[in-house]
Amino acid sequence: MKCPCCNEEMELGYLQTGTIITWTKKIHRISLLPRKGEVMLENNVFKGVNFPAYICKSCKKVLLDYSDKNYEEG
Ligand SMILES: [Zn+2]
Repeated sequence: MKCPCCNEEMELGYLQTGTIITWTKKIHRISLLPRKGEVMLENNVFKGVNFPAYICKSCKKVLLDYSDKNYEEG
């Protein structure tokens, strides 16, 4: 997947949410503290939900996939 903003190749992982948001390479079962190459963000938005997510570390964008969340438009 190419980043829609800067066209760099994006990295696939997960956006995991709790008291913090962390983009993780593999699902963390216990702590969301980031491991090497992972990214921790402030969280005032989502709680307790995980999304498959592409990250662009060059322009700092995260692209969420909500296809498994049964979201219906309209
Ligand atoms: Zn980018």
